[in-house]
Amino acid sequence: MNEAGIAAALHHAAAVRDLCTDCGISRTADASRCGRACQFIKPDYPRLEAQVHGRSRDPARPDERFFGPFEQMHRAALRDPRPDAQWTGITTRIAERLLETGAVDAVLTMTADPNDRWRPVPVLVTKAADLAACRGMRMGYAPLLALLEPARAAGHRRLAVIGIPCQVYALRALEAELGFDKLYVIGTPCSDNTTTESFHTFLELLSDRPDTIRYLEFRADYHVELRFDDGRHQTIPFLQLPISKLPRDFFPLTCRTCVDYTNALADITVGYMGGEGEQWLLVRNARGAELLALLGDEVRLSAPDSHGKRAGPVKGFLANTERAAGGLPLRRMPDWLKPLVGWLMPRIGPRGLEFARARVEMKAVETVIHLRREQPRRMKSMIPKHVWALVAAYGLKPAEGEAGKPREPAKPNAG
Ligand SMILES: Cc1cc2nc3c(=O)[nH]c(=O)nc-3n(C[C@H](O)[C@H](O)[C@H](O)COP(=O)(O)OP(=O)(O)OC[C@H]3O[C@@H](n4cnc5c(N)ncnc54)[C@H](O)[C@@H]3O)c2cc1C
Ligand code: SF4
Ligand code: SF4
Repeated sequence: MNEAGIAAALHHAAAVRDLCTDCGISRTADASRCGRACQFIKPDYPRLEAQVHGRSRDPARPDERFFGPFEQMHRAALRDPRPDAQWTGITTRIAERLLETGAVDAVLTMTADPNDRWRPVPVLVTKAADLAACRGMRMGYAPLLALLEPARAAGHRRLAVIGIPCQVYALRALEAELGFDKLYVIGTPCSDNTTTESFHTFLELLSDRPDTIRYLEFRADYHVELRFDDGRHQTIPFLQLPISKLPRDFFPLTCRTCVDYTNALADITVGYMGGEGEQWLLVRNARGAELLALLGDEVRLSAPDSHGKRAGPVKGFLANTERAAGGLPLRRMPDWLKPLVGWLMPRIGPRGLEFARARVEMKAVETVIHLRREQPRRMKSMIPKHVWALVAAYGLKPAEGEAGKPREPAKPNAG
């Protein structure tokens, strides 16, 4: 691999756009491709779903309204959880298997900055053993797709990419012209990302030793889990997080308005939201099934479950988001009530698949409210029909000029 080529690709100036998570395309030889590739300009999910999966989301399969097209859905865990993985390490283990079996020449993913464990840095990995250093979640953006051209230049023709949804959208939009013989896409869900700098501010509010926090996760049981360098664990109920102390612009508009929580264009999505304490897999097409099969007996699978009702929490979220977007303080729960509600939420709140549906609906609600407030002219091109369908149940409908014209039905194109 040519180190100089990689460094040059990563340091190539990024185009300055207001809605951009620096996925890397603007740093490639033809930055004008952003116009066709960007999730924040004019996404076309039905066309790309048909291109990638052979079909768009099917109204006869109700959960595809929320999660995008999928063929199989599982709760899952590696029998031998990997150290330093965000959950059990299914994501990086699939990538290791691709390299071990010779199915790909390289894996494109993120590693950690040597000076800041929370800062993602794109990397092309060619040895399975080097993927251990990529495990875990980092907060922030880094130009993953800027390494597509160096990957081709290094002679890699069969590639696997691990990416978050805004990166995967651009990758799929340009896939046909990238010229790889084989491309596997392992996606993770993503929400509430922010810059690495802002994330450090959050860590400082959580602990007086923020530099010793080595792991953080927003768990599906309504708690944030922290792990420290000295082996300590701490869990904090969501209700007791210092969210009100964060600056208003803590979450960038991109991450408040992106429209694909569950990475609908990946071959396989590896998350946790619907997993009730385990991981959650969405196998979306035949390549995704091939990826899952690579794990063989290493992975334990079971059927996802669903409990509770999401409508109340989603309505409460909508009311709070409208107040906050309008500059009003959030409706706060009295402090004495927080421990009780914090105890009740994991027991009676939406759990399993209902939790995942609730989170997807909340994200759709956020998209509409924040774009309407901050960039109303973008609504017509940025909000896909399926997002309007999700928020309709909560009384949010497109006003005149907010919804684009329906596109021609996508032609199936088995991928
Ligand atoms: C910002 C962010 C928010 C997320 N929010 C959710 C959520 O709300 N619900 C949910 O179900 N899952 C979410 N995920 C995914 C989740 O945290 C786990 O990554 C996923 O469940 C896989 O776990 P694992 O043990 O299989 O991963 P591991 O085997 O530990 O591998 C993690 C992979 O993610 C890559 N990665 C880490 N940080 C980044 C980053 N900033 N940008 C791009 N790639 C990165 C790593 O390079 C590695 O390849 C989020 C991930 C990120 C990065
Ligand atoms: S395609 Fe990527 S680099 Fe280009 S504007 Fe969109 S997020 Fe930014
Ligand atoms: S929240 Fe959305 S826009 Fe932000 S990094 Fe994640 S996928 Fe990209």
